Amino acid sequence: MSNRKPATIAVRTGIESDTQHHAVVPPIYLSTNYGFPAFGEVPTYDYTRSGNPNRGLLEQALYELESGKGAVVTNCGTSALNLWASAFLGPEDTIVAPHDCYGGSYRLFNTRAQKGDFKVLFVDQGDDAALEAALETKPKLVLLETPSNPLVRVVDIAAVCEKAKKVGALVAVDNTFLTPVYQKPLELGADFVIHSTTKYLNGHSDVIGGVVITKTEQHAEDLAWWGNCIGATGTPFDSYMTLRGIRTLGARMRVHEESSQHILEFLKQQPLVKVIYHPSLPEHPGHEIAKKQQSGFGSMLSFEFAGSFEQLKYFVGELKLFSLAESLGGVESLICHPASMTHRAMGEAALEEAGVSQQLLRLSVGLEDATDLIDDLQQAFDKAKTFQG
Ligand SMILES: *Cc1c(COP(=O)(O)O)cnc(C)c1O
Repeated sequence: MSNRKPATIAVRTGIESDTQHHAVVPPIYLSTNYGFPAFGEVPTYDYTRSGNPNRGLLEQALYELESGKGAVVTNCGTSALNLWASAFLGPEDTIVAPHDCYGGSYRLFNTRAQKGDFKVLFVDQGDDAALEAALETKPKLVLLETPSNPLVRVVDIAAVCEKAKKVGALVAVDNTFLTPVYQKPLELGADFVIHSTTKYLNGHSDVIGGVVITKTEQHAEDLAWWGNCIGATGTPFDSYMTLRGIRTLGARMRVHEESSQHILEFLKQQPLVKVIYHPSLPEHPGHEIAKKQQSGFGSMLSFEFAGSFEQLKYFVGELKLFSLAESLGGVESLICHPASMTHRAMGEAALEEAGVSQQLLRLSVGLEDATDLIDDLQQAFDKAKTFQG
């Protein structure tokens, strides 16, 4: 059925599709292999690396949510990025990637480029001159990540896509932070959307997964071929779990965002909070672009702690409802110190260049009651204020 709204796609994909027992929720097909109806008659699914009913349903839900034509679900977000690069880049080809992209993406492209698999240019994509210089080298692929991690910088997707198209480059947007609920890169001119479904899409911190979604059927076919060739595809159980998570995506994203707005208001009043980074703040440099290209501001935020580093550590230790952990987008609230956790592999110089200070803390606002989250932050700030360390 066409023209279904996102919440309906998320809830209904695969419902009542079981023809054998009429299970309302699609069953999990764990079988590795599928019988051929007769000699020489290839079934829809023959071997799970190349295809599986649960993965197929998840792919359908994801490309419909992103208004794409096809998708390949992979075993993690990193392998989605690797699949995309493998399918389209040869040794003479260049990929342009953000200098402040997800640390694992940086490591992947950097390491493979050092091996000579392809060339990579890391640029500050908010710097028009730097981006244009990179595009003059006629790259094959451009990766955008907006909002970025951990400073939630925003890049104008439509503007970059227009420039990239002029030099014949294909553009992918890593849409992990906003999901199709708040941002639709294919509608803004991108050729691919990539997700770590580990984060908001699955949303319960119990699956590692990824996806590449395509604007064209041809690209979906190319990527499916490569996904099978290099063995990047996701498992049936993970696909089942992720589709189950996506059923509630819209409802979850609304509460994540609502609570993050309450927390932002609270943080603005705190003497131990210096700068707050969130695209909803009028002083945020990406605020106007975010308003133009996003339908919500998202709920990832970070801030500079104004006290000493010892006070910061004490504050984090006193929190009861924000777990000190990496990852994001789950139902549970998390706090992360990027410089010593998610981004530590970057090294001091690269951290400084990307603007990630030792005083920076990142919050993934979960679905606990927002007043409980604020009470928890309040008691930890109060204790940190009087801490003599
Ligand atoms: C986590 C993350 C990835 C990598 O995904 P994995 O599932 O951990 O491999 C890529 N991009 C962004 C923005 C992420 O947050």
